[in-house]
Amino acid sequence: MKKYNFNAGPSILPRIAVENSAKAILDLNGIGLSLLEISHRSKDFQAILDETVALFNELLNIPAGYQVIFLGGGASLQFCMIPYNFLNKKAAYLETGVWAQKAIKEGKFFGEVNVVASSADKNFCYIPTGYAIPTDADYFHITTNNTIYGSEIRYDMDSPVPLIADMSSDILSRPVDVSKYAMIYGGAQKNLGPAGVTFVIIKEDMLVKADRKIPTMLTYSTHTKEPSLYNTPPVFAIYTCLETLRWIKSLGGVKAIEAMNIAKAELLYDAIDKSRMFVGTVAKDSRSLMNICFIMKDQYKDKEDAFMEFAKTKGMIGIKGHRSVGGFRASTYNAMPIESVQALVDAMNEFEKINA
Ligand SMILES: *Cc1c(COP(=O)(O)O)cnc(C)c1O
Repeated sequence: MKKYNFNAGPSILPRIAVENSAKAILDLNGIGLSLLEISHRSKDFQAILDETVALFNELLNIPAGYQVIFLGGGASLQFCMIPYNFLNKKAAYLETGVWAQKAIKEGKFFGEVNVVASSADKNFCYIPTGYAIPTDADYFHITTNNTIYGSEIRYDMDSPVPLIADMSSDILSRPVDVSKYAMIYGGAQKNLGPAGVTFVIIKEDMLVKADRKIPTMLTYSTHTKEPSLYNTPPVFAIYTCLETLRWIKSLGGVKAIEAMNIAKAELLYDAIDKSRMFVGTVAKDSRSLMNICFIMKDQYKDKEDAFMEFAKTKGMIGIKGHRSVGGFRASTYNAMPIESVQALVDAMNEFEKINA
């Protein structure tokens, strides 16, 4: 049976990226060696790294004065590295979910943390607006896509202080005005590649800001001076990212991907909004294009398990909502074809016809 992969992360990748990664494991570009067996300092790997960085720059239209580096430790290690490097007195954070809270927690190890606004009062079902960013903060940290709750900041905001964004789950899903950010980072395993690599886009003038002594591996400039090669980088994960970037380029770039993402999300949100049985959990102006969360209306609540079973018989994978939200979550990352979203909508409509 065909499987429709709605997993939240690690999650669906372009089929071509998976296939080409498999080939590179067996024999990289016909050199007679596996990608897994060559030195990270070989010319073969350097070419992979260079192309990955070049495509990142091209697809996100990254202006001069920024560096793209690949690190280990996941987005979670960035929660600690960011304040370690940049929080000298005070930092500002926007609290839009569990990942934002985890970033805030790490910030507090290093100085004063000012949570400028929070949507915790409504279980993070909206993006706060109308807050002021303190002009004396060392930086302002946001989470652009809240993977668990399905809310997203889909605009590039102005900030009076360096803006730092966790884009783990919506990187490359839309064009971004990188010049508005001091740093953009994320784990690759949602929308870019396999687990094991973290991308960091950092403005060079940030690199000199750290006031304290920091262990070598946790200092950003260590990884920008010898770009991604201070120590052994996650070579395989980087390779799969490269294949994903090549795929995005082949489709016409991020603008084309965004149009597809909008079409997919509209299809599913439309079905939810027209349904007698299902209802969305996120304020309409804050809805994510990447993670679409919905539950059953009160009078049908007892049918949620039955729908989960029904959806399974239709090949739906990974649509169970996070335990802190309940219901359902369909992750519709870049690599998800619209046909799969249509299959989910068909399953929802069929179930509703029988049960409501
Ligand atoms: C998954 C996720 C993380 C955690 O990433 P790790 O690489 O597992 O540390 C952080 N932020 C967001 C928005 C996420 O979706």
